[in-house]
Amino acid sequence: MMYAYFSDDQLRHHGQTFMVAGEPKPIPEVPERAEILTTAVKRLGLDLREPGDFGMGPIAAIHAPEYLKFLQTIHDEWKAAGGSDLVVPSIHPFDRMGPYPRSHIGKAGFHLGDTSCPVSKTTWQSAYASAQAAIAAARDVRDHGQKSAYALCRPPGHHASRDIAGGFCYLNNSAIAAQELRAKYDRVAILDVDLHHGNGTQHIFYTRDDVMTLSIHADPGVFYPFFWGHAEERGEDAGLGFNHNFPLPLGSGNDVFLAALDRALSMIDHFSADAVVIALGLDASQDDPFGGLAVTPAGFAEIGKKIGGVKLPTVLVQEGGYVSNTLAENLFQFVSAFRATIAESPE
Ligand SMILES: [Zn+2]
Repeated sequence: MMYAYFSDDQLRHHGQTFMVAGEPKPIPEVPERAEILTTAVKRLGLDLREPGDFGMGPIAAIHAPEYLKFLQTIHDEWKAAGGSDLVVPSIHPFDRMGPYPRSHIGKAGFHLGDTSCPVSKTTWQSAYASAQAAIAAARDVRDHGQKSAYALCRPPGHHASRDIAGGFCYLNNSAIAAQELRAKYDRVAILDVDLHHGNGTQHIFYTRDDVMTLSIHADPGVFYPFFWGHAEERGEDAGLGFNHNFPLPLGSGNDVFLAALDRALSMIDHFSADAVVIALGLDASQDDPFGGLAVTPAGFAEIGKKIGGVKLPTVLVQEGGYVSNTLAENLFQFVSAFRATIAESPE
């Protein structure tokens, strides 16, 4: 039996609008996403469970104390200072050489990387619950002998760095899961198949050689997150050679994606990874409203099959993937092909 983790607290955050090319647009990272993905979990026959509460320890292993305090307290502080019902940044430091900001406006600009990650009264509750789902899935694999587990994380996490939110993300669920796995496994790989580069995850592990980070995504020269995700970014210090980016031309379909995936999987093999976290975005879909890449449901099945073929302990962590008529189908295709392959006995 494969378990899936989700709790209703994850539905409470709802960010409303963000700025796109100078205009306010609805934030597509809506609670309905989780409800749609839940239908796929049920169709897959996974055992859907509440994650329980593993506390702050695993989250604090990845994120800075002042950032965690900010996420929990800034909404009250903002409101008390006369701010609106959503904390949204309006100014950002161009470096971080100065002292920690004292004002609520300064703190918002320090910790929120863009307008897509507003903090509402319920944001912390949902982000915390989403992280707990990732921890539960990681512990299934680490402590309970499961070959794999799925965390239905919402809000997503891969754009959040150690102390900066961004791209609808607050707590880096994939990074938290990987760090949990490190308590047992010496070498962990995080493979990010979301449409967007996993910049937060890259940043967190950039100088480390015990967690390899790999990301397949639309070319950041012309696509969010714009500043990171190029092939030249390969890690620093001890981490040099342990970060790999596979930027793809806009509009790339199954063949181009799968060719990049083959290269990424061979690097995971070369690294001799002991366990894997898949940052499972589904927004590379041809039907996704972001429209950056063109993977079909059959393509997601092929991606799941190749990843299952790695035959390592694997934690699937939901990242992006927005409301379309194939969102549930894409998750179904990925996970069913993945499960069928990982269940086969090794050759
Ligand atoms: Zn994405």
